[in-house]
Amino acid sequence: MKKGCCSGCGRCVAACAEKILTLEVSGYRKHAAMLDTSRCTSCGACTAACPLDAISCGRLQIQ
Ligand code: SF4
Ligand code: SF4
Repeated sequence: MKKGCCSGCGRCVAACAEKILTLEVSGYRKHAAMLDTSRCTSCGACTAACPLDAISCGRLQIQ
């Protein structure tokens, strides 16, 4: 996840079948974050759902 690119729109959160994504508040901004990396199946749904290309690969990488 490229936090600087993330708008906090929540599309990836809605797309994740494992329900392991959430939106975190950071100052006056929101950004997506993964709750449990061990449950990520690398399905790529979050990457496909992101309009800003803020997720670098199926298994989210915090950058
Ligand atoms: S790649 Fe991982 S975080 Fe992304 S939608 Fe699939 S299970 Fe969820
Ligand atoms: S879909 Fe992209 S821009 Fe929207 S919350 Fe997820 S990572 Fe951020």
